[in-house]
Amino acid sequence: MSSPGSGELRAAVVIEDDLDIRNLVSAILAQGGFQVTGAATGREGVDVVRQEHPTVVTLDIGLPDIDGYEVLRRIRSTTDCYVIVLSGRDDELDILTALQAGADDYVLKPFRPRELRARIDAMLRRPRAEQVAQHPSARSASPAAAPVRTEDDPRELSDTLLRNGILVVDGEARTASCAGVELPLTKTEFNLLHELMRSNGAVRTKEELVRVSRGRDYRGYNFVSRTDERAIEVHIANLRQKLARTKGDPDVIVTVRGVGFRIVPGSATSR
Ligand code: CA
Repeated sequence: MSSPGSGELRAAVVIEDDLDIRNLVSAILAQGGFQVTGAATGREGVDVVRQEHPTVVTLDIGLPDIDGYEVLRRIRSTTDCYVIVLSGRDDELDILTALQAGADDYVLKPFRPRELRARIDAMLRRPRAEQVAQHPSARSASPAAAPVRTEDDPRELSDTLLRNGILVVDGEARTASCAGVELPLTKTEFNLLHELMRSNGAVRTKEELVRVSRGRDYRGYNFVSRTDERAIEVHIANLRQKLARTKGDPDVIVTVRGVGFRIVPGSATSR
């Protein structure tokens, strides 16, 4: 997986079978400075994503060949780009299934152009993301880019490097690793883990975490719905699965019933 060079236009891919919506979304992204490629079917979308290495993908769930969930599974095996699902069905289960399959965010159709633009802008304005964009090499798993200190290293960790036992989160390089093995996190999963690590054991409410997942500078509609909060639960469940699949302890993230989540400080070493 490669990142586009800093001089190139950022790429976006719009996977949508409805021509009017595809044109509208493409126009919004083009205005935002993206080089946009459209795809009218799921299979075409998967191919285009593999060719273009986009920064952003918008994805319709109801496609004529393979559905959006299957598209997500296929593109998630090759990319960690920012995926926004555009769902025509105001159905919580559909949205949660999409998030389970690796989507970062969702917008319900019909949507206001401002809303979609605000979500994308908020994601791209994040200072840490910009830093990574300027230094594509920082995304690689090379040890020089993201030095992971050994457990008995007595030196203080810098602001950008957060550690909890064998779990290390590097806010600068936007990488997370467990016992030196990099966790394959989506951007949203990374943001949530980073926020919980930064909070160092303090409880973060689901509402707070929804705002974290939208980005600090988000200036769109800031209403947090029940579905938004359920979406956080799904992202956290995905995170725990990824921790379990590496050498991490999924129980390092504790559910505080009816409130939110927190990290157990100093844990993850017991395994
Ligand atoms: Ca459709």
